Amino acid sequence: MPSATKPVVTRFAPSPTGHLHLGHLYAALIARDYARDHGGKFLLRFEDIDITRVRPHFYDDIEEDLHWMGISWTGTPLRQTDRSSAYELALETLKSLGVVYPCFCTRKDIERELQHLTRAPHGPEGPLYPGTCLKLSPDQASTRLSQGESPAWRFNASKASQLCGPLSFDDQNFGKIAVDPNLLGDTILARKDIGTSYHIAVVIDDAYQEISHVTRGKDLLASTHLHRMLQTLLKLPTPSYLHHDLIADAEGNRLAKRHQSLSIRSLREEGYSPEQVWEMLEKAPKI
Ligand code: GLU
Repeated sequence: MPSATKPVVTRFAPSPTGHLHLGHLYAALIARDYARDHGGKFLLRFEDIDITRVRPHFYDDIEEDLHWMGISWTGTPLRQTDRSSAYELALETLKSLGVVYPCFCTRKDIERELQHLTRAPHGPEGPLYPGTCLKLSPDQASTRLSQGESPAWRFNASKASQLCGPLSFDDQNFGKIAVDPNLLGDTILARKDIGTSYHIAVVIDDAYQEISHVTRGKDLLASTHLHRMLQTLLKLPTPSYLHHDLIADAEGNRLAKRHQSLSIRSLREEGYSPEQVWEMLEKAPKI
């Protein structure tokens, strides 16, 4: 529940890697309405750290589609590509706490390692990292670093869990949830190619933009366990959470980029009005 002292601030955080579809529209609507119903502010943030997938025209297209649907936000949208120094600083803090370690594995290396394991640990999205580079000695790691190998940086879930102790977070749909430190395992916190990750960027920016309520799809519920730990390690405030249902297609599959026919843009081009799109969203299966 919103507290009397803390203003409600929500955000919608699309990636400019494609056009918005009904699933995005639903996420935007929930964030916008939550802020509106509580006299708060609704912000727009572009999650554009993965520059290999960003296409510049999508920034304007997304804003235009939201406006066409009658959704507006406060202020200039934040672009995560403008925030890289804040993410670098956060990574340095995590390094100094010893809760990240360099990983030199390629995807192939990991697959090979997993094949040798009789019981590979699994997370919500498949096998977890088997911890290969955690076994490197500090000397071995620094030799490889000094030879110019550029590593990814992985979360040391067990070390972090010792530092954080038991944690929980509140979700308006799921109640109080105890953090499971191993849910995503030793996941990547800084990619080799872009030097950061969704996880670092999102906790840093939720704090920077003073987001009081994070509303997002329940596919990200597992990530929130990790985010709660990162907030503790980086001494950031913890927002309230509301993980909502996802919009599905007629077969019950969650909407994804491949459902371009259900993008706001193509519906508009086909002659639908915003009212008809809202109606379509209302009727769409939710999972
Ligand atoms: N960019 C994410 C998405 O479109 C949203 C992440 C978040 O809200 O934390 O699903």
